[in-house]
Amino acid sequence: MQSLKLFDTLSGEKKEFTPLSAPEVTMYNCGPTVYNYLHIGNLRTFVTNDILRRTLEWNKYKVKQVMNITDVDDKTIRGAQAEKESLADFTKKYEGFFLEDIKALNIEMPWNMPHATEYITQIISLIEKLIASGAGYKTDDGIYFDVTKAKNYGALSRLEKRTETKSRIAKDEYDKENPSDFALWKFHKEEDGDVKWPASFGEGRPGWHIECSAMSQALLGDTIDIHTGGIDLIFPHHTNEIAQSETATGKHPFVRYWLHGAFLNVAEGKMAKSAGNFIRLRDLKEKGIHPLSYRYWLLRAHYRTPVTFSWEVLQGAQTGFENVVRKIADLKSKSNSAGSVIPNFFHFDEIINDDLDTPLGLGILHGLLVNESYTPADRVATALSMDKIFGLNLSELSEEIVKIPKEILALNEQREIARKEKDWKKSDELRAEIEKLGYKVLDGAKETTIERNLSSLV
Ligand code: AMP
Ligand code: ZN
Repeated sequence: MQSLKLFDTLSGEKKEFTPLSAPEVTMYNCGPTVYNYLHIGNLRTFVTNDILRRTLEWNKYKVKQVMNITDVDDKTIRGAQAEKESLADFTKKYEGFFLEDIKALNIEMPWNMPHATEYITQIISLIEKLIASGAGYKTDDGIYFDVTKAKNYGALSRLEKRTETKSRIAKDEYDKENPSDFALWKFHKEEDGDVKWPASFGEGRPGWHIECSAMSQALLGDTIDIHTGGIDLIFPHHTNEIAQSETATGKHPFVRYWLHGAFLNVAEGKMAKSAGNFIRLRDLKEKGIHPLSYRYWLLRAHYRTPVTFSWEVLQGAQTGFENVVRKIADLKSKSNSAGSVIPNFFHFDEIINDDLDTPLGLGILHGLLVNESYTPADRVATALSMDKIFGLNLSELSEEIVKIPKEILALNEQREIARKEKDWKKSDELRAEIEKLGYKVLDGAKETTIERNLSSLV
């Protein structure tokens, strides 16, 4: 099989992937900040991580995948106060909603999901190391990282003004125009309430960037194979992680392959929790869009291409996805024995291994489903094998979509009677009722067929 190639942000190139100690691959995904519901843009990034993990497994690697939960930072503290809850109760609530979304999108659970608040000891000792090395220094409000002490600061984000700065920033998020010394630890302030931990250098709480450096080191070691996030994390978050981790361990590189996913936008621009213009998975469900139709829509674009959300495109994707599911159900009904997987059908393996080309991969799936030179059974077996990458739950959905519940059949029988009696008003009302419940009513010359829509499986 042709080797796996991944686009690495640091080198700016598609590189052949070889892990440090095959068959194991260590991967760290920056996880959600649990201060609100996730929006479907955030979820795009998590679907990309999942496709990457599935592709690594397809290549027979054993993936040690870590995805953190950011449960203490500026935003979670402010949010807990606004909702008058303890930080722990507040973040647990949103973490629960996040886990529901992950499940609905058929995202495989990572090997480990550490919470920042469980790694305070490791965070403190990492900061102590940075202070001892001369890169960490104390001010009135916290411990800061001196970016002039990091080798090649800003290489990941291609910063122009690399090490001339002497400004300082306490906030976790800031823009690239102002590379600054950033906060490793923020001393306790009244506005942080009871969120504080004792430390040799003073009571307080961690900055966001140090959390990921500490958790990835604690769980995966000093050098890891892959680190991912959305493109907005390149600066400052990942830039600062590199500075912290490499300065503390003296080892370069901290990460061997950096992968960043493009954004999901709305017509007006960026979808962001902070901008308040966001759509959640539950909003899609309310409008009858199945979460896996959303996943299917995402896979139709390459992960490094920005996508623009609209209800129309999503509805169109759901129709396309429904056709795939129905076609598989139809092929299953025509199979009288178990089929065999057609190996590397139309170079599917190379295509997916070419930096996760899911749009082309889906094209191959479509071609397979209608390719009559193979038996229905072999086509089904091959499609379900490809679904190990796509994660569209094709096996189960193709079973579900042909199940018509008794109540619907009963309504249809009533409609047949109304039609025989030429009671068109009643027959139309019954059709509308069946359709409202998520089914199509297809009147044929002899009989009526009922088809289930994906919207009824939401
Ligand atoms: P957050 O919960 O804000 O820390 O974000 C979680 C993940 O979602 C990060 O990897 C972000 O880079 C990513 N992200 C944020 N907004 C978007 C968006 N509009 N499209 C795609 N990914 C996003
Ligand atoms: Zn992170």
